[in-house]
Amino acid sequence: MNRNQMWRRIAGHSQSWDMVVVGGGATGVGVAIDAAARGYDVLLLEQSDFGKGTSSRSTKLAHGGVRYLEQGNIGLVMEALKERGLLLQNAPHLVHDLAFVVPNYDWWEAPFYGLGLKLYQLLAGKYGFGTSRILSREETLEYLPTLKIEGLRGGAVYYDGQFDDARLLIHMVATAFEQGATLLNYVEVTGVTKDSQGFVNGVRARDAMSGNEFQAGAKVVINAAGAFSDLMRLRADPGVSPMIVPSQGIHLVFDKSFLQGNSAIMVPHTSDGRVLFAIPWHGHTLVGTTDTPVPAPTLEPVAMEQEIEFILSTAAEYLTKAPTRDNVLSVFAGIRPLVRASGAANTAALSRDHVIHIDRSGLVTISGGKWTTYRHMAEDCVDQAATLAELPETPCATHHLRIHGYHENAKEFGPLAVYGTDADEIRKLIEDDPELKECLHSALPYLKAEVVWAVRNEMALTVEDILARRTRALFLNARAASEMAPDVAKLIAKELEWSEMRQRDEVASFRALASNYMLSAKQRNLS
Ligand SMILES: Cc1cc2nc3c(=O)[nH]c(=O)nc-3n(C[C@H](O)[C@H](O)[C@H](O)COP(=O)(O)OP(=O)(O)OC[C@H]3O[C@@H](n4cnc5c(N)ncnc54)[C@H](O)[C@@H]3O)c2cc1C
Repeated sequence: MNRNQMWRRIAGHSQSWDMVVVGGGATGVGVAIDAAARGYDVLLLEQSDFGKGTSSRSTKLAHGGVRYLEQGNIGLVMEALKERGLLLQNAPHLVHDLAFVVPNYDWWEAPFYGLGLKLYQLLAGKYGFGTSRILSREETLEYLPTLKIEGLRGGAVYYDGQFDDARLLIHMVATAFEQGATLLNYVEVTGVTKDSQGFVNGVRARDAMSGNEFQAGAKVVINAAGAFSDLMRLRADPGVSPMIVPSQGIHLVFDKSFLQGNSAIMVPHTSDGRVLFAIPWHGHTLVGTTDTPVPAPTLEPVAMEQEIEFILSTAAEYLTKAPTRDNVLSVFAGIRPLVRASGAANTAALSRDHVIHIDRSGLVTISGGKWTTYRHMAEDCVDQAATLAELPETPCATHHLRIHGYHENAKEFGPLAVYGTDADEIRKLIEDDPELKECLHSALPYLKAEVVWAVRNEMALTVEDILARRTRALFLNARAASEMAPDVAKLIAKELEWSEMRQRDEVASFRALASNYMLSAKQRNLS
């Protein structure tokens, strides 16, 4: 899978595409997989890198959502629990189960959460991940050795799924490609074309790498631009009313010592009425998230001071070693593309159900939902888009479609486990050039070979693509990522024939970006 191959597919395509998808996050790529697997002819365009938007910035849980159960949204929970099961079945190399413990400090919490979590388990039916149960105080501490013990009565354990969001997305892009879809990163959809009756019949686009502009005809255009969906709708029809309410969520990342063991903490009620997770992730501790309305989406949202303070103070209530600002290895923010609803008191109360909306111009927008439910969202969307475009009716084919790299025991690949069967190909690169076995940084497990692999086979084009989304260095340890940048630039330069100046520019621009993922000296002194 590389960009030249994609451009060749476009050059050889003279008629209108059956579907053009705008946006290369979980939603858009999910739609591309579904449509291509049904035999439709699909083009997907992403303005930046695949996953640059929200889809690399989630809590990384394949879950039904215990919080939605509390809100009484049983339908959403059941749908998401089924999708969680299908995801594990179709991508066992990328999704695994994880024990979550709800610690109890009040007498009523054990029966209350114990019962609720039993219901959560039962709703999963045959897609269950593990048996939930009430824990004694000692058992709770066995699961969570670094949990605060003062006042602890016990806990309740339940099971959900965990995954690496950007890595899964790249494997989904490969899956869509294998099914026949054409997908390009760094191509922005700048507008739409319309027929004589005012119906959208294609897109105008610009390749950020070459500056070239082109048009692509489409029987239907699907807007999967996430938090940017309204901007895309306005490009098709300046008269439409907004449907997206952007809401920001942040995470802080610390080293493993703060959350020892292999289980996560789930705090069901924080002071702002949300849930908060502390999760082991790639040998680190991930804590989040928040839900803060923002006026407009940006591709690089920045954590707000009150969000950082909220996560630090809530984590300190539960962890024996209270994390401080100096301990923050990375801070990242993402924007939820929530769909407007009347009557919701705040963004946390807005539904996480997905919405498919068709404007008068015929532009189909899919928004809302969750990472976990991307497959089901895509199925719904392609059903409706195919009807609108009068495409031959074909059933959805993704229930049992394996995600690229499928491997039932990928753990055997050690640090390369997330690549599934591609791990063997990366090992071959190392056999051919043993220097590629070297680690890029002592604080993180990433190998030089992964950079070469990503440039050759995963459409990585920049230092940021490698450090933010092909590996997760930026999200795990922003300072280490910044230090890795020159070596990464050198490896890319060899593959893509970059000049010395291009290498320097790339490193400088990555380091400027990485500074937003570190707390500044001023922010560190605020404690
Ligand atoms: C803090 C946080 C935590 C979350 N945690 C979880 C979780 O644990 N589990 C879960 O299931 N869900 C979670 N979610 C929800 C989930 O991450 C989102 O629902 C999902 O990622 C949305 O994907 P998307 O493709 O719709 O949007 P995005 O990933 O934002 O993709 C949209 C893409 O469209 C592109 N685009 C925009 N305009 C154009 C244009 N004109 N031309 C070309 N491309 C364009 C953007 O660059 C972007 O890449 C979380 C969300 C947040 C914010």
